[in-house]
Amino acid sequence: MRIAIAGYGTAGQASAILLSAQGHDVTVFEQSPEPGPVGAGFLLQPTGLAVLERMGLAGRALALGQRIEELHGTTPRGRAVMAMRYRDRREGCFGLGMTRGALFELLRDAHAGASEVRTGTRIAGYDAATRRLADTDGRVHGPYDLVIAADGAHSVLRGGCGQHVRRQSLYPWGALWSLLRIDDWPEPDRLLQRYAGTRSMIGMLPVGTRPGHAGRWLTFYFSLPGEAVEHFDDAGVVAMKARVAEIWPELSPHVAHFAHAGQLQRARYRDVVLARPHHGPLVVIGDAAHAMSPQLGQGVNMALLDAAALADALASHSDLAVALEAYRRERHAHVRAYQRMSRWLTPLFQSDRTALGWCRDALFGPVGRVPGARGPMLRILTGELRHPVQDGIGQIANDPYSPGYTGSD
Ligand SMILES: Cc1cc2nc3c(=O)[nH]c(=O)nc-3n(C[C@H](O)[C@H](O)[C@H](O)COP(=O)(O)OP(=O)(O)OC[C@H]3O[C@@H](n4cnc5c(N)ncnc54)[C@H](O)[C@@H]3O)c2cc1C
Repeated sequence: MRIAIAGYGTAGQASAILLSAQGHDVTVFEQSPEPGPVGAGFLLQPTGLAVLERMGLAGRALALGQRIEELHGTTPRGRAVMAMRYRDRREGCFGLGMTRGALFELLRDAHAGASEVRTGTRIAGYDAATRRLADTDGRVHGPYDLVIAADGAHSVLRGGCGQHVRRQSLYPWGALWSLLRIDDWPEPDRLLQRYAGTRSMIGMLPVGTRPGHAGRWLTFYFSLPGEAVEHFDDAGVVAMKARVAEIWPELSPHVAHFAHAGQLQRARYRDVVLARPHHGPLVVIGDAAHAMSPQLGQGVNMALLDAAALADALASHSDLAVALEAYRRERHAHVRAYQRMSRWLTPLFQSDRTALGWCRDALFGPVGRVPGARGPMLRILTGELRHPVQDGIGQIANDPYSPGYTGSD
């Protein structure tokens, strides 16, 4: 097939690799003149790592990133709110902190057609009748047998799904992010978070190496109301540092160098729900189809899972309509479960509802120790809630979670 992919983020990159390998004629359009990583770092879950393994990239990812064994969140007084260890899900299970740059380059280097990506081309719309794409400079591309919209949370192409777009609202809160080089960070295998009510949350996620830079890196994030993110300025930097000093004083030396707002990246997130992610020869994947709050750290994983499921569906069904419906069925339960969870859990960590913070601090720890609740909580963390292969990692031939695994690439 002649396939167009709009967007060269994780979903677009992974789709380009998998579909080119199936022999399709793939053309990628990316709005940035020089595609590169957007954002700081992220947590890859076992589900996402399994897709990289299938692509022969897990060994390299493990070398570039940082194994994360536990998510640990406390109040400023040191009371544990969240303490979830991956190995309690199953022996040898872990997450992987990575810089965006490391994953971007890993996928780009694995994509034989990377040099032909049509950069600086912002797709403006799609004409279902002619199966062509138009860009913002008035150029027309196509026709294509299949158009994959992988143009992220603020997608223009998902509008092609018409009435199937059920929700695309902005979350009221956002965050500031930055990469910090700290070679001697004392907790290299734990994602640490500190919560002061629901209005303040700070995180430190070890993410390993950063392309073009020496040393070991962490992602620092700081929660703020959406308006404050939009208008974040140099005075905001001073206020942020004062808040860090109040609720996580040990972190102060690591953020002391921030003097200008431009040193931090701003993030707002959307809650996107499509009743059906395809319409005619258009299919929407990744954040374009199901952007959510990053609270559960699943978005990159979802993008990888979408790309793998779409490639499988296209390989299994020669009729495009049947293949796209098979893709929807394969991803539906998993995507819906995390959309709901994300919508439900985010206000417990980012909102003006103080009482929710009290409930969280009082209940999360004890509930997490109840045998019947611990399993589902761990499954949510690892990305395996309503995943078709709930214990899937162990079923993958060259298992990155096996002792002695060295990577297949
Ligand atoms: C602050 C923050 C923290 C996060 N932390 C985590 C985490 O810890 N773990 C996790 O798994 N996920 C995390 N996520 C979510 C994750 O970043 C996304 O889910 C993931 O990047 C989605 O990949 P994507 O390819 O669908 O979209 P994107 O990565 O957004 O890529 C979209 C691409 O399309 C391009 N594009 C957009 N519009 C057009 C157009 N019209 N024409 C051509 N090109 C276009 C963009 O330039 C971009 O390159 C986080 C998100 C945020 C905001």
